[in-house]
Amino acid sequence: MKAAIMRDAKIIVDDMAMPVPSAGEVLVKTLACGICGSDLHALKHGHQMVQTSIETGGSFAMDLSKDIVMGHEFCAEILDHGPGTNHAFKAGTRVCSFPMTVHNGEPSTVGYSNVVPGGYSQNMVLTESLLLAVPNGLATQHAALTEPMAVGLHAVRMARLNKSEIPLVIGCGPVGLAVISALKQMGVGPIIAVDYSAKRRQLAELMGADQAIDPSKTSPYETWAQLAQSDVNGNPMPVEPFSGQSFREGVFFECVGVPGVIDQIMAGAKKGCRIVVVGVCMESDQFRPLVGVNKELNLQFVLAYTPEEFAETLHSIAEGHVDVAPLITATVGLDGVAQAFEDLANPEVHAKILVDPTIGSESH
Ligand SMILES: [Zn+2]
Repeated sequence: MKAAIMRDAKIIVDDMAMPVPSAGEVLVKTLACGICGSDLHALKHGHQMVQTSIETGGSFAMDLSKDIVMGHEFCAEILDHGPGTNHAFKAGTRVCSFPMTVHNGEPSTVGYSNVVPGGYSQNMVLTESLLLAVPNGLATQHAALTEPMAVGLHAVRMARLNKSEIPLVIGCGPVGLAVISALKQMGVGPIIAVDYSAKRRQLAELMGADQAIDPSKTSPYETWAQLAQSDVNGNPMPVEPFSGQSFREGVFFECVGVPGVIDQIMAGAKKGCRIVVVGVCMESDQFRPLVGVNKELNLQFVLAYTPEEFAETLHSIAEGHVDVAPLITATVGLDGVAQAFEDLANPEVHAKILVDPTIGSESH
């Protein structure tokens, strides 16, 4: 089979052996697979990713000197059933899956493994018990957005917002957009979104942001503070005698993942605010603890999603609660993966690029 393989920190299209389903697994044909920011990180900062994963018991402990086929945001079609499967779904069924599989008794992260290929390949093996059938009528390309959208749902759940808190989403790439969508579904707001890119601000509004701010023109923190001076009914918040001011509580979602952003958010946040870090910064970063101490800030980190949140997200997309169509800005074949990794650097053009291993080299 053909695959776009990460080899020596490059993406190369090559033939490789077709995976063989072990006990409990099925063989699938990949129909669509989104390119994730984490994959861009893995290509660029693979060693940090692996090292940190080893230190923290994470799921990215792969050997970068050997081939890796990335791709964990997929929709696929069942071709064949391995031994010990109960044929819960028949061949031809379209499925999504939590990106883990138990291959020959060893758990592997699909898309960050030397053992099993991810979705940038024509075929994969997946654990039958983790499969979710794509509901009838849901487009394959939209089903492939389940994984990145589930990241947003999880971040918002972990943030435990109450209805009076005003969320501010910093960074409107796929992660920020997924957070906005989850906030919208939860009915909290007004939702303030922040991004330098006009295209991304437009997508933020489509996903449910009430205001999308260009931080080079307007301070998102001042905008937030103005809104937060009134309670949910529009009445001024009571003035606190000690500080002379008072604000509603806020949750600031960090969806950028570059050094310096956490410190900026801490500097912009008001007393008692919470900061939820969803963006993945691969480098060391610095912030001033005293800023957090003086304001009694809460700093929280979140990762991925639960299998239940994954399933819930697939159904929200299928039922039309979330329209993911605007997020898909291109589809490429395996030969277009390397270029797509480069193109994703431009926020004015792309949000999510899908890889469709069933098409040839043309991109459309
Ligand atoms: Zn992802």
